[in-house]
Amino acid sequence: MSACGCDSPGDHLMAYDAALQQLLQAAEVIGQSETIALPQALGRVLAEAVVSAINVPPADNSAMDGYAVRSADTRSETEISLPVMQRICAGQTGEPLQAGTAARIFTGAPIPQGADAVIMQEHVHCDGDNILFKGPLAAGSNIRPAGEDIAAGDEILASGCRLRAQELGLAASVGCAELKVVRKLRVGLFFTGDELIEPGQPLQAGQIYDSNRYTLLGLLQTLGCEIVDLGVVGDSLQQTREAIQQASEQADLVVTSGGVSVGEEDHVRIALQEMGQLNLWRIAIKPGKPLAFAEVNATPFMGLPGNPVSAFVTFCLFVSPFIKRMQGRQQVVAQSIPLTSAFVWPRAGKRREFVRVRLVPDKVGTASVELYPHQGSGVLTSTSWADGLVMIGEGSTVQIGDTVDYFPFTELLA
Ligand code: AMP
Ligand code: MG
Repeated sequence: MSACGCDSPGDHLMAYDAALQQLLQAAEVIGQSETIALPQALGRVLAEAVVSAINVPPADNSAMDGYAVRSADTRSETEISLPVMQRICAGQTGEPLQAGTAARIFTGAPIPQGADAVIMQEHVHCDGDNILFKGPLAAGSNIRPAGEDIAAGDEILASGCRLRAQELGLAASVGCAELKVVRKLRVGLFFTGDELIEPGQPLQAGQIYDSNRYTLLGLLQTLGCEIVDLGVVGDSLQQTREAIQQASEQADLVVTSGGVSVGEEDHVRIALQEMGQLNLWRIAIKPGKPLAFAEVNATPFMGLPGNPVSAFVTFCLFVSPFIKRMQGRQQVVAQSIPLTSAFVWPRAGKRREFVRVRLVPDKVGTASVELYPHQGSGVLTSTSWADGLVMIGEGSTVQIGDTVDYFPFTELLA
């Protein structure tokens, strides 16, 4: 290093697609699983498929409050009168329906043997114990057949799916009380920078609050990880080494912020080169160029840049798919949605850019995306204002009305 500290390691940057591919190839699925009760399973990843042992619904049942009849008894041209001989509520089972009779029935109650249609109560008049109505009724009217939703033997949830409320409801609908899920990924986390202090402390000259800690804690929680938070590590090679050692021994994956650039106070990359294998450093993206990917003590390590927007964006683009792959998820790379640009991007950059945008409704059935006016990598406001990123290719400009690739945060981080 020269005295002026401006030795540059050369300008070679790895292309975004190649970097993502290399990274994902290095992500190993954690094999261990655990069986947990349904209420604890929200947000977890299923370790084996769920196959239904039953039909849902288990029996033909009424879709309406009304009267169960035989459709053959409803063919007359004139008004039909049938005596109501039984009453079947949800949770009960009725008697077989005699020809020429009706059964009072409520939504969800099993259709009695012999009946094959339900007439809505709004379509009948009562006359003593009889109902009067106009036919004909087709067989199957207002009946939800057994197995309409799920047939016994159907795979209802695939291995690797992330369990949302809907999936928990679906598992419960076939009687599952427990699910086999992937063990929680343990992620070691630390933040480098002598300037960092905790929110709640008064700010002294030269200090800033450690915002990345809270962004990254939240992102990792969103992805269902267990976190080993080692806090702030000062800008010294020795402290950085110790933190790397500790985190890599305790976690399945280490994520850090800061100290991966080319300044003399950026010790993370240097320590990684000494202690393990630096597999990837410097990617042709903006923001987030200095992202470092290494392996230390057989633990993957992702060193994110310290700039708050760069840390957030590189988490979305690289850490999130990496974690999803380790969790054994099916879909790990977010799909873009083609949308109309409501902004101009006049300068073609050498690196691929990921700009903070948000959806604006257009005419009925269409939407476009608008740009946060300040795209600086320290402008964290942009990440809170935005609902996604637009990817702008190397050497590309954007005009109003152009189609752009939009990645919603919900997709990047779900
Ligand atoms: P670095 O990557 O360490 O060179 O940091 C780049 C910029 O990000 C500097 O302005 C740092 O002060 C800032 N920064 C680094 N870490 C954090 C953090 N945890 N929270 C907020 N800003 C940070
Ligand atoms: Mg720093």
